[in-house]
Amino acid sequence: AAPSRRSYSVTLIPGDGIGPEVVSVARDVLFLVGSHEGIEFRFQEVPMGGTALDAVGVPLPEETLSTAKDSDAVLLGAIGGYKWDSNEKSLKPETGLLQLRAGLGVFANLRPASVFPQLVDSSTLKREVAEGVDIMVVRELTGGIYFGKPRGFGTNESGEEIGFNTEVYSASEVDRIARIAFETARKRGGKLCSVDKANVLEASILWRRRVTMMASEFPDVELSHMYVDNASMQLVRNPKQFDTIVTNNIFGDILSDEASMITGSIGMLPSASLGYSGPGLFEPIHGSAPDIAGQDKANPLATVLSAAMLLRYGLGEEIAAKRIENAVLETLDRGYRTGDIFSTGSTLVGCKRMGEEVLKSVNSQK
Ligand code: ATP
Ligand code: MG
Repeated sequence: AAPSRRSYSVTLIPGDGIGPEVVSVARDVLFLVGSHEGIEFRFQEVPMGGTALDAVGVPLPEETLSTAKDSDAVLLGAIGGYKWDSNEKSLKPETGLLQLRAGLGVFANLRPASVFPQLVDSSTLKREVAEGVDIMVVRELTGGIYFGKPRGFGTNESGEEIGFNTEVYSASEVDRIARIAFETARKRGGKLCSVDKANVLEASILWRRRVTMMASEFPDVELSHMYVDNASMQLVRNPKQFDTIVTNNIFGDILSDEASMITGSIGMLPSASLGYSGPGLFEPIHGSAPDIAGQDKANPLATVLSAAMLLRYGLGEEIAAKRIENAVLETLDRGYRTGDIFSTGSTLVGCKRMGEEVLKSVNSQK
């Protein structure tokens, strides 16, 4: 029997800077993959960020949030730019991004750091160390010290000014991120490393206890624990030892940036932010790159790979996700490079042309 035709609504948020250029490429790729795999996409494009501020005075219009919430997945380009840098906090484009994450209830941030064989020499590490690195950092996104109370400024016993924050995690907060991490590890290499500071911090002691308890539900996943100071060292010394890493908000912030530098190509890295139910949010890890916006120079592959994550983690369309990832690899094999990943001997192309080459590769996948 013919496979049933699946239909999904996808909210597109092009945003600012290079956002519209890279989202337009990713949209075309999704559409074409859909036509091969029997998937229909209904795209709705909505404003957010500086673009929305200029148009309607707020970074996240109500209609944008409600459209996003009602859809099956959200694909975002980038938000912000110098133009709004001097705005007050509530009128910053980036505030809209925090509101969108909160509104969608996405508490798990997935950031892969893979070294592409074709780009191994752009890694910050030696070839022998970088080759074959394929890590997924699962970061808790809505709890921990970035949100814990009490927080603020005050004075201590000797009258000196102080600033303070509190790290709080509840058992259920740890459980839900741990579950996503175990499930992610299961789909990947079957190894999960939980990173904490349980030798010093109470929240980390609870973290380690809850993660360890959950391991019995995932006998097929090999669990290990590592202190964050050691993990940051091991990431540079021998990154290949890691498959999936799960960690709290602040450690994940730092470790995911560290891991991304191993790959040496900011224009290649996607991300996913997931909640329990409801649509996930998928976006490249790079910013709006105002220095190259509107010049057809942006690398669209991070956003194209975010669309692959949207298919895998947002819609459960593994075959279509693989088709996109293979098309990206094939395009690199055929030698096409945007400026950020260019090296002599390869073919320098702009954003649009790179998109066209990915489309050709999508067509040629079996
Ligand atoms: P944000 O604060 O929004 O994260 P940022 O200032 O940290 O932004 P980016 O906007 O990511 O940084 O840009 C950092 C540098 O990387 C810039 O020089 C930019 O041109 C380059 N860059 C970022 N993304 C891409 C891309 N997709 N293709 C090519 N170059 C890029
Ligand atoms: Mg940045």
